[in-house]
Amino acid sequence: MTTKAPERHEFQAEVKQVLDIVVHSLYTDKEIFVRELISNASDATEKLRHNQLTESDVFDDGLDLEIQVTTDEEAGTITIKDFGIGMTHDELIENLGTIAHSGSKAFLNALKEQGERNENLIGQFGVGFYSVFMVADSVKVYTRSWKTEGDCLCWSSDGDGAYEIETVEGERRGTRIEISLKDEYKDFAKKDRIEEIIKKYSTFVQFPVKVEGEVLNTVQAIWLKNKNDVTEEEYKEFYKFQANAFDDPRFWLHFSADAPLEINALLFAPTENMEGFGFGRMEPGVSLYCRKVLIDSEPKNLLPDWCRFVRGVVDSADLPLNISRESMQDSSLIQKLNKVITKRFLKMLEEKAKNEPEVYDDFWAKFGLFLKEGVTTDFTHRDHLLKLLRFESSYTEGGKTTSLADYLSRAPEGQKEIYYLSGSNRKAIETGPYMEAFKARNIEVLYLFEPIDEFVMNHARQFEEKNFISADNDDIDLDAIAPDTETDKPEALDKDSGVALCAFVKEKLGDEVSEVTTSERLVGSPAMIVNADKMMTAQMRKMMKAMQQQSGMPDTDTPVKLQINPRHPLVKNLASLSASDGELATLISQQILDNARVAAGLLEDPSAMLQRNYEILEKLSAK
Ligand code: ADP
Ligand code: MG
Repeated sequence: MTTKAPERHEFQAEVKQVLDIVVHSLYTDKEIFVRELISNASDATEKLRHNQLTESDVFDDGLDLEIQVTTDEEAGTITIKDFGIGMTHDELIENLGTIAHSGSKAFLNALKEQGERNENLIGQFGVGFYSVFMVADSVKVYTRSWKTEGDCLCWSSDGDGAYEIETVEGERRGTRIEISLKDEYKDFAKKDRIEEIIKKYSTFVQFPVKVEGEVLNTVQAIWLKNKNDVTEEEYKEFYKFQANAFDDPRFWLHFSADAPLEINALLFAPTENMEGFGFGRMEPGVSLYCRKVLIDSEPKNLLPDWCRFVRGVVDSADLPLNISRESMQDSSLIQKLNKVITKRFLKMLEEKAKNEPEVYDDFWAKFGLFLKEGVTTDFTHRDHLLKLLRFESSYTEGGKTTSLADYLSRAPEGQKEIYYLSGSNRKAIETGPYMEAFKARNIEVLYLFEPIDEFVMNHARQFEEKNFISADNDDIDLDAIAPDTETDKPEALDKDSGVALCAFVKEKLGDEVSEVTTSERLVGSPAMIVNADKMMTAQMRKMMKAMQQQSGMPDTDTPVKLQINPRHPLVKNLASLSASDGELATLISQQILDNARVAAGLLEDPSAMLQRNYEILEKLSAK
């Protein structure tokens, strides 16, 4: 064989432009050239495997299908070798000297629009090979096509406008790329560094990737397998690997879809809630792949924010050429993926709740806060999320919860609303004045213990067309729902004395209350504060107060309504006392208001109340 002199070729004009951008732009993730070259090697190997099945003659048949990477730190070189289909002379010119894809123009435009930090564009636009010139001084591509006829060729270039092709001796089938790194990027020739990069982006390439003879990609892309072919152990192992987790997954969702998008997804719910451990806000943990190659390990909009505890992988072969981390924000494809995946995940949770309630309850205890957050922030999935909420109630045992659907299934026919009460714990709610009327009528009330719960109720407003109403609301007509079961109640004050007492108390309390009325809603307590404004529950008042204090705004205590119990001995005594000892009756009226504030969780500074309490005791002890 006569060795011909090297031929010199100019790169196509568009390639020159691409190279110019690639080499001179300030890409942050230079390392992605490794991903691109390994992907190309894998593609070429995949094509070869296909040819082995369909073609009768394949050159150098019988070679192992693997990708070999070697480095020479001293010399600053990296070699990536595959035994794939290789390239003929014409293919070299076409593939590495021109941009055949119509995407090239789009690539250049996208680069112009997006400025820097668009390293993903390179691979996505079918110009991945050129990324090697971000780090390389010169590149040699030795290649021998799978076709029986043909030469061993060496393509070489330093990336500045031209390349050469010459015939060489003795190459085997496939492609070997020798990269001579620029001085400032010699670090990539460190074995540890290259291994780290390959593990990051190319772990799931289907052919063995060997660095200095050692296989790096031992973890399989199990999300692409059939569910029945994956063992529980494999799922757990994969979770630990993918999420970098120390716990086991509590359950997982493995599904594939063809329409409207081709999706293979594997999502895990962790056992532990790291935010609950005080580790701060979690980053989204579902990675986005396109045919096993990592696109983004923490894509922001792939799932709604409240799903940030979910780990796993979403692989879509439909990712368009123009996807990059930046453009993903508003990519309609990502939105479509988001929609499909979130829906499936919610459906899985619903099924868990139905079929394995203990498993779900345990999940709820650890991760319920995320779903509540979802109700307040994710309008699209609100209805689904509401079905997944769980609360303790006056019907459940302490520590046990009910769903809203179950709550409604128990509600009497006439009940048009869903009642709830906020408090720091079960006992605080049950011993307060607000439960009395509900207990007396066997009407179920949800107990809310978390500060976010009332926000959830306010955002959702209703479930199955039943409004959420705080049980401390003024205009709840319980008698319309169920009769009072309390018999032999003590005699009430007569109507006139009741009216007179209310007027007296209102006069003495002045602007602190907007109204004083008698109420049949109370049983064992002498008085309670009720909310005239549906939104302004005790919890909300507290929150407003805290906000006012924080922002240094003056304390504008919105006046409350006070209801007194006309059957309570204290109230009855107060009626006569208001005539005989106005001074003591005033003190007692004020004390009753403060006690009602305590029950509502609204009393912040007890000092005035204590002072008054002593005053009352002093007066009584003198009698
Ligand atoms: P893409 O992979 O998107 O087509 P690249 O710029 O990465 O774009 O590669 C351009 C082309 O060069 C590939 O389509 C392929 O035909 C050819 N090529 C690159 N690397 C190899 C390889 N290792 N073996 C065979 N052909 C290759
Ligand atoms: Mg490529």
